[in-house]
Amino acid sequence: MKYPLYEHFYTFQGEGVHLGRAAYFLRLYGCPQACPWCDSAGTWHPDYRPAQVQLLEASEIAQLVEANSPKEVFVVLTGGEPIMFDLKPLTQALHALGRKVHIETSGIRPLRGNLDWVTLSPKAFAEPPLPELVRRADEVKIIVHNPQDIQEGLETLQGLRDDAVVWFNPEWSKARDRDANILNLITETVKQHPRYRAGVQMHKVYRADELDTNSVKALIPLGGNPTLGV
Ligand code: SF4
Repeated sequence: MKYPLYEHFYTFQGEGVHLGRAAYFLRLYGCPQACPWCDSAGTWHPDYRPAQVQLLEASEIAQLVEANSPKEVFVVLTGGEPIMFDLKPLTQALHALGRKVHIETSGIRPLRGNLDWVTLSPKAFAEPPLPELVRRADEVKIIVHNPQDIQEGLETLQGLRDDAVVWFNPEWSKARDRDANILNLITETVKQHPRYRAGVQMHKVYRADELDTNSVKALIPLGGNPTLGV
């Protein structure tokens, strides 16, 4: 089993329950969801396809993680859409190093592999998550680009565990531009429903990912739109 590894970099987790913790990110290549505001357009957008994506064995990826981060640092598998791949060999190789393995996924395929933490980011406007992934989620991250994203995102979550944390994150250009419509809507939603939490992509405030020279994020505009680039 070889994995198309688009990007790997050492940074901190900028979102969710593990916010602020050092983390090693593995960004795989390929995603069928085509979110209009995707900040990983290089993993799927036809205009931003890289000339080449390296295909690596699980053991080779584990070596990269081991060589570039302290041993207590956890790993985040992210998109592209990592759930498109059989993650068993990769999670086994990373666990063999003593690493915890997290995943960020839209949950559209059965999960193959032993994950220590599942962040589900449902895409109601595209393919919604499978019920088994909703049940497996440790936390949920709903990206709010339009006002209806809150309700439509929540409607994908039937069967969510009571202890799963639900976040509303403003889509990055809305947060960066301090769009009052979106930010106030999230604020009022959280005030009315204390189960929910308001979030933000803190790694972008810090521009933390870009400090690792392996990161190519700085070159990728949001969803392929250069005017919305990070
Ligand atoms: S945001 Fe995630 S699910 Fe959406 S297109 Fe980008 S990688 Fe795919």
